[in-house]
Amino acid sequence: MDDGIGWRTRLNREFESQFPQGTFHFAVGNGWSELLGEVFRRVDAVEDEEERVFFAWADIKEKWGLLRLTHNGSDRVDDICDWAEAASERICDGCGLSGRLRKDGLWRVRCDACAGS
Ligand SMILES: [Zn+2]
Repeated sequence: MDDGIGWRTRLNREFESQFPQGTFHFAVGNGWSELLGEVFRRVDAVEDEEERVFFAWADIKEKWGLLRLTHNGSDRVDDICDWAEAASERICDGCGLSGRLRKDGLWRVRCDACAGS
């Protein structure tokens, strides 16, 4: 896995047009880095030129254990967010392997190994 600083910088640079406000803080665990990368790729693919100019992510965070994405984009981006938020329920936010939602003080999606640590 990545070092936790690396993937954030990498995604900010690769999908620069989606972060017009500059360096974006992704308030999620390292295990969701691949999922976010896929979200940004899909958004890039559905946007037309006009959308691309105005699009910006407002918030990318974990809430009640699941991924929560907010943006100023179209319904097509909403569909991608719905998919990703549902997918996050099965991806360990610690390591990216298959996990499930658990309550251990806080709600988190964790695999067995990460749940124990
Ligand atoms: Zn894990």
